Amino acid sequence: MRTLVTGGAGFLGSHLCEKLLAEGNEVICLDNFFTGNHGNIQHLRDNSHFELIRHDVTEPILLEVDRIYNLACPASPIHYQFNPVKTTKTSVMGAINMLGLAKRVHARILQASTSEVYGDPSVHPQKEDYWGNVNPVGIRSCYDEGKRVAETLFMDYHRQNQVDIRIVRIFNTYGPRMLPNDGRVVSNFIVQALRNENLTIYGDGSQTRSFCYCDDLIEAFVRMMNQDQIIGPVNIGNPSEFTMLELANNVISLTGSKSKIIYHKLPLDDPKMRRPDISLAKQFLNNWEPKITLNQGLQKTIAYFDSLLAHQEPV
Ligand code: NAD
Ligand code: UDP
Repeated sequence: MRTLVTGGAGFLGSHLCEKLLAEGNEVICLDNFFTGNHGNIQHLRDNSHFELIRHDVTEPILLEVDRIYNLACPASPIHYQFNPVKTTKTSVMGAINMLGLAKRVHARILQASTSEVYGDPSVHPQKEDYWGNVNPVGIRSCYDEGKRVAETLFMDYHRQNQVDIRIVRIFNTYGPRMLPNDGRVVSNFIVQALRNENLTIYGDGSQTRSFCYCDDLIEAFVRMMNQDQIIGPVNIGNPSEFTMLELANNVISLTGSKSKIIYHKLPLDDPKMRRPDISLAKQFLNNWEPKITLNQGLQKTIAYFDSLLAHQEPV
């Protein structure tokens, strides 16, 4: 299969490119390097089945491909709020351009959607048939609504033009190759703990998230793309739920850090709780469920940042 991965130089995209190459596919990685970087894909550059294209998904492109994974979009609040108009354009025009490409070359296309389509949920845990509680005019809206419109476009290209689509809704995923300044909670806490700086909890730390290790998520991506029973949306994530205070204490104890916890103001519209119901994924993705516990995944991620920071900050 010749497979296009948009956002392929990012955190999840680079893991996906690696997995697809290992399974014998040809991979075209497309990225504008907003939050992605060459370091993430450096080890793939010598592989003759790997090709890199610097391109922005808000512009059309014509490529001959069999499959498309559409991941291009900044995922961390500080990055998607940096240029919110561009974030919406990336989700919406990116989806139109990639769906147009899929339609033209008859490629199957998978959308990396998000648990943010549920907003600040009033139903817990979240199932795919819950329509969500999203503020359309807040600071998270550029991302949440952009991703919601992308889902709409996917469904309409499917109904109207018979495009072969798949949609997955990703819940908080972490692991090696997140940026140290990414701003998401797992990377923030680990970097702060390794530097013996204060861990910054936003709000009182009682809000919850359910954290999935990247390898578990990538396995589900590929299973979703390869099966013919369901187009989605399908939730993918780890249903083990933790408060941010629990996460902070775990990170401090796993790193053996001297860090203390400090409290900052909670950002606007920050969801109070989040946990995926993954029954659909289990049923249709060959009994898929996450295998890596939070502590195992944190240990791998801590080892990654430890080595990264050691190279950046010679003692
Ligand atoms: P990331 O920021 O590391 O990766 C996004 C990639 O897309 C980067 O390489 C970036 O340079 C690229 N990109 C951004 N705008 C682009 C554009 N206009 N044209 C081309 N490339 C562009 O984030 P990630 O965590 O790897 O997320 C990947 C995808 O998964 C995103 O679509 C995100 O919304 C989705 N997702 C991730 C999570 C998570 O917890 N990691 C959760 C829900 C959804
Ligand atoms: N958060 C925090 N400290 C940080 C970064 C984030 O307490 O340094 C909180 C944030 O307010 C949210 C949770 O951690 O409640 C998850 O934040 P993240 O940005 O990782 O993901 P999202 O809010 O998009 O789920």
